[in-house]
Amino acid sequence: MSTSNRKIRKILVANRGEIALRIMRSAKEMGIRTVAIYSEADREALHVRYADEAVCVGPAPSSESYLRIDRILEACRQTGADAVHPGYGFLSENAHFARAVEEAGLIFIGPSPQSIELMGSKLAAKEAAKKQGVPLVPGTAEALTDVEEGKRIAREIGYPVLIKASAGGGGKGMRVVEKEEDFAEQMERAISEAISAFGDGAVFIEKYIASPKHIEIQVLGDRYGKVVYLFERECSIQRRHQKVIEEAPSAVVDENMRRAMGEAAVRVAKACGYYNAGTVEFIVDEQRNFYFLEMNTRLQVEHPVTEMITGIDLVKEQIRIAEGQPLRFSQEELKINGHAIEVRVYAEDPRNNFLPNVGKLLSYERPQGPGVRVDDAFEAGMQVPIYYDPMIAKLIVHAPSRQEAIDRMLRAIGEYKITGIATTLDFCAFALQHPAFTDGSFDTNFVKQYFTPEVLNSALTEEELQTAAAFVAHLWNEQKGQSQVLNNGAPANSQSCKRSWKIARRNI
Ligand code: ADP
Repeated sequence: MSTSNRKIRKILVANRGEIALRIMRSAKEMGIRTVAIYSEADREALHVRYADEAVCVGPAPSSESYLRIDRILEACRQTGADAVHPGYGFLSENAHFARAVEEAGLIFIGPSPQSIELMGSKLAAKEAAKKQGVPLVPGTAEALTDVEEGKRIAREIGYPVLIKASAGGGGKGMRVVEKEEDFAEQMERAISEAISAFGDGAVFIEKYIASPKHIEIQVLGDRYGKVVYLFERECSIQRRHQKVIEEAPSAVVDENMRRAMGEAAVRVAKACGYYNAGTVEFIVDEQRNFYFLEMNTRLQVEHPVTEMITGIDLVKEQIRIAEGQPLRFSQEELKINGHAIEVRVYAEDPRNNFLPNVGKLLSYERPQGPGVRVDDAFEAGMQVPIYYDPMIAKLIVHAPSRQEAIDRMLRAIGEYKITGIATTLDFCAFALQHPAFTDGSFDTNFVKQYFTPEVLNSALTEEELQTAAAFVAHLWNEQKGQSQVLNNGAPANSQSCKRSWKIARRNI
């Protein structure tokens, strides 16, 4: 059934949490009704409350709810939804799902099942990129099964090498091998990890780039062959090969490089007849050579930084494209306005190897003010469920320049009050103030190279700062015989304490 040129009236969002809410907000602005799906663990979730209708699709584990294609399609039938937005994660890059949605006569808000299938294989994607003359990281073009063959190729490429799962994602099935003695063991591990995580043991080898930056290009394509790029996102601050801070534009990409990367991304997209929103990921070496990594055939977690600098609502564009509308702008009309940064607020403890730290949000106060956007789905008193990704929120800022964006982000992080669980916020504040971040020289090794839990422990919390400030101010006032200015010893507020602290420091 043709899905072009059909007005969408009701979207079922096959996802949960912040991304489900974010999609529903754009739908609402377009006058489109929304349907939430939820698991038994998410009965009280905000995306369920926000939607016009909601359908429970099963018990808490995602394999029994958010990943159940049959139940999701049944929910569409029940509610009369005419389109499905998959968000990111879950079924968003599952070609069977996209196909099943279309076969049910519904609109899938994303690319074609064929594009998802092709780009779902890193090896097939590399092949497509190579045909377009897009540079690839030196490595094998085919799946490897034989260890001896692997060793021979690794020797040719030169150590260190990276063994990767072709079906990989989320940093899984990836192994760095420093020397030949370790090769056989690492390859076997990579294969078994790939089988258990993706049900596909195909692996390949790439040269391991020692100091790489991860820079990706956002593309949008319509159903008539027009594809544009919406510039780059720098995503090199990662832990476990997974992003924590993203920004747009990148501090190291100049006009020429931007155009070259953007045009390469458009060629890759066109090579697979791509339409809707997608992201072409590149790895950039110290000489600023860029190499194709993979294409993600969905909306990315970090899409808001692109929205902030381009002024384009990517979800609305996805919906328009899915309806069969042609792209509304040309490449020349797209401009970068200012600078945007996103930090991901994970329920993870940076003091303990970034291990998930889920539990109850005892208090939860979002930052506000000029240029601040929070994409989240939590309120104080809510539990961060153990069943799903431990991301609580995305904090995004927009400002005229990179330095102003950094300053704004630090201000916003200072206003974010989360108690009850550990989060990545203080790690992000540390990273944003680090000279390697401010001068743009950082790469994907940032955490390994500069971060230890001690750098956080040595920093005073707001509460400690208040106590220390009050104490010092008290000593100073006592010395001057005027302890009454301290409101009977209790600090009036943190601002007045900081002022006292500054005055006290000057006077001691
Ligand atoms: P996944 O699909 O699992 O996220 P990617 O291919 O996108 O895997 O790679 C994830 C991250 O792993 C990259 O952002 C980068 O930090 C690192 N990485 C991938 N390939 C290489 C490479 N050849 N050399 C060094 N680091 C790499």
